[in-house]
Amino acid sequence: MAENYDVIIIGSGPGGYVAAVRASQLGLKTAIVEREHLGGICLNWGCIPTKALLRSAEILDHANHAKDYGLVLEGKMSADVKAVVARSRGVSARLNGGVGFLMKKNKVDVIWGEAKITKPGEIVVGKSSKPVVEPQNPVPKNIKGEGTYTAKHIIIATGARPRALPGIEPDGKLIWTYFEAMKPAALPKSLIVMGSGAIGIEFASFYRSMGVDVTVVEVMPTIMPVEDVEVTAIARKQLEKRGMKILTSAKITKVEKAADSLTAHVETADGKVQQITADRMISAVGVQGNIENLGLEAVGVKTDRGCVVIDGYGKTNVSGIYAIGDVAGPPMLAHKAEHEGVVCVEKIAGLPNVHATDKSKVPGCTYCNPQVASVGLTEAKAKEAGRDIRVGRFSFAANGKAIALGEDQGLCKVIFDKKTGELLGAHMVGAEVTELIQGFVVAMNLETTEEELMHTIFPHPTVSETMKEAVLDAYGRVLNA
Ligand SMILES: Cc1cc2nc3c(=O)[nH]c(=O)nc-3n(C[C@H](O)[C@H](O)[C@H](O)COP(=O)(O)OP(=O)(O)OC[C@H]3O[C@@H](n4cnc5c(N)ncnc54)[C@H](O)[C@@H]3O)c2cc1C
Repeated sequence: MAENYDVIIIGSGPGGYVAAVRASQLGLKTAIVEREHLGGICLNWGCIPTKALLRSAEILDHANHAKDYGLVLEGKMSADVKAVVARSRGVSARLNGGVGFLMKKNKVDVIWGEAKITKPGEIVVGKSSKPVVEPQNPVPKNIKGEGTYTAKHIIIATGARPRALPGIEPDGKLIWTYFEAMKPAALPKSLIVMGSGAIGIEFASFYRSMGVDVTVVEVMPTIMPVEDVEVTAIARKQLEKRGMKILTSAKITKVEKAADSLTAHVETADGKVQQITADRMISAVGVQGNIENLGLEAVGVKTDRGCVVIDGYGKTNVSGIYAIGDVAGPPMLAHKAEHEGVVCVEKIAGLPNVHATDKSKVPGCTYCNPQVASVGLTEAKAKEAGRDIRVGRFSFAANGKAIALGEDQGLCKVIFDKKTGELLGAHMVGAEVTELIQGFVVAMNLETTEEELMHTIFPHPTVSETMKEAVLDAYGRVLNA
C-alpha cells in the first residue's frame, strides 16, 4: 500500500524545504521529493554560490585598491579561478548538507526521484531524469525511493530553469547559462552578458573583477530594468568606471560561432548593427517555471505563461494541490519562495490569522559592485499608479561612514505618499545596501509613518544614516547636506 502523508512537497529548494520544516513543526506528517540536489537552485546554483564568487571578487577589488587605504601590497593581485570556484562549490556543499540535516532533525522523509502527480492526493516517484549533481553530500539516511505515495496536500515547489532565446540557445560551451558561468574551468579573456537583470549583472560584475573584458547587452533602456532609474544610473556609472562596457536599448539578433569564440550581432536603438566578438557569452534573459512532466494537464491545474496560477496562500484551482516559489511566478526570489512556503503550510494546518503573501513588499537585492537594493514602488511606477508623491534622497558622498569606508558613491532614495505619509518605495545603491534595505522592509510591513521614521535613532557612524537622512529630505528637514 502507498505510504500516506499529510503533506508531500515536490522540490527541495528554499520554497520546498522551508515549507517542509514548518509543516513538520505544525505536526503534519511530511515528505519532500527531490530529483537532483537538496536545497534547489538557490543553494546549489543560485543565491549562495554566486555570493561566494562575488565575495572573492570583492576581496580582489579591495586588494587592488590597497594603496587607497595606505596599505602596501606588492604588485597587482590576481585570482586563481579554480580555487575561487572550489570555494564557491564548497560553500554550496556545506549548505546542501545542512538541508539534509534539517530534514532529518524535523523528521521529514526525503523521497529521492522525480515526482509526477497522478491524481489529486497521489504522486508517483520515478527515476530522476537528471543526474545527481555535485555538490551532493551523502544523501540523508531518512530517504525513500521510487514508488507511489499519497497525501492530503501536495505542494509543487519545482522551481525554474534558464530561459533561452530562439536561435541564441545556450550550448554549454560558447554560450553559457548560470550553470556553466558558476564554475568556469578557466577565465575567458572576453565575455558578452546578454541581459542585465540581477543574474546577468552579478556575473558581469564578478567576471569584470576577475579581469575579464565584459560587455553587457540589455534590450531595455536601463540596466536592471525593474529598479529605479536614478539608482541604476549610478550603478551603471560605477560599473563603467570599473571598465565594464554596457549597451542599453540594444538587442542581440544573431550569434555566429567559431571554434573558441563567438560574434554577436547587436542592433542598437538607431537601427545600426554592430558586431562584438568575445570568447564566451552568458545568456541571462530570465528563467521559466518547471511545470512540465508533473501531470498538471491531466489533473487540470491551471498555468499561465509557464507558471502555476495560485492565490495568495499558494492554492491552485484544484483542491489539495498548491504551488510556491519560482514555479508559482515572479518575483522569482528565494525569500519570496520561503515566505510562500510558510504561508501555504500554515493555511493548510488551519492556523488563524494567516496573511496572504503581499508581493508588493518583497525586497530585491543585486550583489554586483556597487550593490543595489529596493522594496516597493519606483518613482516611475508610483507616478504611473497616479500617486501624489514626495521623494527624498541622500547621497553617500555626505555620509561619514561611507567616506571612511572609501565607498562614497551611492544613493538612498525614498518615496512617500504625499497625503498619507505611507512609505511607497525605497531604493539604494552602494556599499552594503543589500543588508540595509531590510530596515525599510520592516518599516513598510509595520506601516510605519514618516514621523516615526524621522524619530527613529540610527546608530552613528553607519551607512544606515543615509536612510534616515533620505526620509528627512523628503520632508525638507535633511541635516547633513
Ligand atoms: C545565478 C542565480 C543567482 C540567484 N541569486 C539570488 C539571490 O541572490 N537572492 C534570491 O532571493 N534569489 C536568487 N536567485 C533565485 C533563487 O535561486 C530562486 O528564486 C529560488 O531558488 C527559488 O526557490 P524554489 O524553492 O522555488 O525552487 P528551486 O530552488 O529551483 O528548487 C526546486 C527544486 O525542485 C526540484 N524538482 C523539480 N522538478 C522536480 C520533480 N518533478 N520531482 C522532484 N524534484 C523536482 C529541483 O531539482 C530543485 O531542487 C538566483 C538564481 C540564480 C539562477
